[in-house]
Amino acid sequence: MKNTINWNFDNSYSRLSNAFKEHIEPVAVKNPELVLMNNDLAKELNLDFNKIDKDKLSSLFTGNILPKGSNAIAQAYAGHQFGHFTMLGDGRAILIGEHLTKSNKRYDVQFKGSGKTAFSRNGDGRAALGPMLREYIISEAMHHLNIPSTRSLAVAKTGEKIIRDTLLQGAILTRVASSHIRVGTFQYVAARNKKNELEIFFNYVLKRHFPELINSKKKALDLLHVLIDKQIDLVVNWMRVGFIHGVMNTDNMTISGETIDYGPCAFIDKYDPETVFSSIDKMGRYAYCNQPAITKWNLSRFAECLIPLIHHDQDQAIKSATELINTFEKKYKERWMNMMRKKLGLQGTEDKDKFLIVDLLTWMHLNKVDYTNTFCYLMNEKIKDNKVYESEDFQNWKKRWEVRLKINNNSPEKYLKLMKTFNPLVIPRNHKVEEALEAAKKDNIKPVKHLLEILKKPYIRQNDTINYQIPTDLDEKYQTFCGT
Ligand code: AMP
Ligand code: MG
Repeated sequence: MKNTINWNFDNSYSRLSNAFKEHIEPVAVKNPELVLMNNDLAKELNLDFNKIDKDKLSSLFTGNILPKGSNAIAQAYAGHQFGHFTMLGDGRAILIGEHLTKSNKRYDVQFKGSGKTAFSRNGDGRAALGPMLREYIISEAMHHLNIPSTRSLAVAKTGEKIIRDTLLQGAILTRVASSHIRVGTFQYVAARNKKNELEIFFNYVLKRHFPELINSKKKALDLLHVLIDKQIDLVVNWMRVGFIHGVMNTDNMTISGETIDYGPCAFIDKYDPETVFSSIDKMGRYAYCNQPAITKWNLSRFAECLIPLIHHDQDQAIKSATELINTFEKKYKERWMNMMRKKLGLQGTEDKDKFLIVDLLTWMHLNKVDYTNTFCYLMNEKIKDNKVYESEDFQNWKKRWEVRLKINNNSPEKYLKLMKTFNPLVIPRNHKVEEALEAAKKDNIKPVKHLLEILKKPYIRQNDTINYQIPTDLDEKYQTFCGT
């Protein structure tokens, strides 16, 4: 089996001190059954599961059999959850190892829902089928929207029931990431107050993710700088497609800049910047419009971890870190404006762009108009007759946009091409995701597979795309849950 799959493990994290992890194997499951497998991703990883029968695949993707060369660990981390600092760690996940592709790209392979670990606290270490399929769907959708994300290789049922509000089918997601190192991992190491450990860990992260910084004379500040840039790019991308992460705790922010931990996340339909879907986010801390501010807040927590490495004089270190953190707003605004310009097909920058953009968003908000579909309308991608775009207000705005469009050597070919790479035709609409998950819970995985096919090409019209573009008529408030 090992030879046909081509696993190529090199488990650098498991070679770090035991202070950073626990060596532990997945708890065996009763009746493993593979539900979904990502053959495209397997190919990208140079893995070949084709010659493996389904029973073996089921055992493999539940951790009942561990591949040769793996070395399973649960990673320690901490984090600010809704603003409060807590010791966490992989309470229901196990990193089975790091796989190297033929081009030497390193990927974590992790089982989520694989049983208790030293970090499980009061949890059962398990996950339910619905949330694991949901993470699979949304993370793959994000990847195909060209947004950095962890990926999903497989979902397998455990054949065991797990206890939540009701009894649910247990399942394990195989998650692939360029690493699972989080802001919270740094917080965990920094909280131990051992400078040598912090240095070892910092150098490990640099070597793994940012080797170009190794010879810098101000490595720690450089890392902060890089992470500010990466996280701004990430959140601008989230805003672009209307994605709400829902639980932007510091343990759910990666150092690689990939979106991680798809719990109560969802996409906005009707544009309202204060949208919150998560049932536990009562104060709206992680609302759509708060995501940039929270990103900065999380980066500040990251900066605090690096203080001992920035300068031996703490005051000087804090001053330098603060200066960098305070570049956030200006950078964010610039990149957000540029992203919005591209959504509108505008070339160059004009002073009045800000008003054009804000007026469109305000109009959408006041009239409760679908965010994604408004940009489709502007690209002449007709979805269904929608009288709202015939309104005088909108038509007046459109005239201003058309005047602006003509500036800076623009042409319809140019602006449509630009708009088509920034505005998806499809997003994983909440009712479509729910519909697919409901079927999967009743053993019909077809709707999930079909949804995944559509979401693979979100910028291109396919035969069936239209059925995934129409917002639900249901006006009732959509709610998401943490999936624990
Ligand atoms: P999350 O909300 O998925 O980011 O998880 C936050 C923390 O709770 C992490 O330390 C998880 O490992 C832990 N956790 C979540 N669900 C469970 C569970 N069912 N059993 C044990 N730990 C869990
Ligand atoms: Mg998490």
